[in-house]
Amino acid sequence: MAFIIIDLEFNNLEGIHRYFPNILEEYPGLEKLDLDNEIIEIGAIKLDNYMKPLEEFKTYIKPSAIPILNPKISEITNITEEDLKEGLTFQEGIENLSKLINEGDIICSWAKDDIIEIINNAMYYGYNNLNWLKNYLDLQEYSTKILAKKKSLSLKNALEELKIKVDNNKLHDALNDAIYTSEVFKRIYNSRVLKNYIIKDIYNMPAVDLKNLSEYLLDKQKINSKCPKCQVNIDIEYDFVPIKWRFVSLGKCPRCNNKVMNEVIVKKTFSGEEVYNEISTIIDEIEYINFSYKIKKMDNKLIKY
Ligand SMILES: [Zn+2]
Repeated sequence: MAFIIIDLEFNNLEGIHRYFPNILEEYPGLEKLDLDNEIIEIGAIKLDNYMKPLEEFKTYIKPSAIPILNPKISEITNITEEDLKEGLTFQEGIENLSKLINEGDIICSWAKDDIIEIINNAMYYGYNNLNWLKNYLDLQEYSTKILAKKKSLSLKNALEELKIKVDNNKLHDALNDAIYTSEVFKRIYNSRVLKNYIIKDIYNMPAVDLKNLSEYLLDKQKINSKCPKCQVNIDIEYDFVPIKWRFVSLGKCPRCNNKVMNEVIVKKTFSGEEVYNEISTIIDEIEYINFSYKIKKMDNKLIKY
């Protein structure tokens, strides 16, 4: 079993108007472009299960979706148009990357964003040979837990915290970032603890939070709304409204007469399927009043817009 730590750099159109005010007139196709972040560099380092480096990987990807390298990106990453001309196609690059990965190996990255972007780019190019994307470890999540932080650690803060010497000029290069991530990993590696953080099927994992809950229509067919004690359907008194990260409804159990709060968390898998996670809890009168007040407030807000 080996670990393959992946890091990517992207090009995108964020703030590009400042540099190219007429870019949409010049490239009318960009307005409808179905890709926010185009991968322009892939870096990776492979470690064995004693944390010994086995192989390094780095390649530029020749852009085909976004024709202009955003000067802001160029400044952050030091990547030039010249570098990209030498690049591989996305298909070639990702294929070469996948050669590093054997059955049972674990793919790692600092936060899941890079994995999401691999899938987004693959979808854009109609590339569907991602079956190597299976076992996965989010090193940001793992480090944040191991170092007992409440908020998600940035790679930079993790390096500082572990007193790893960093050459700031070398950050934001895909291979260097992968190597720095591996330095963090080495210091907090614990094969026993780690097992609890490995995701077996990242492609079908409910991972992506829905962005705009107030515009989302809940599929009631996927919701049970049962009393956790009696397993009978509850009589809904306040129907589902989005409150912060989830949908909440309130009702009463016709059998035991308890007040029941029902929460539904909706997540998307990388393959696009929506997964409902439902939690029913018996609550007391005070909690009930509290939540009914919140629901009414939310309801008014939703009607206003
Ligand atoms: Zn009941």
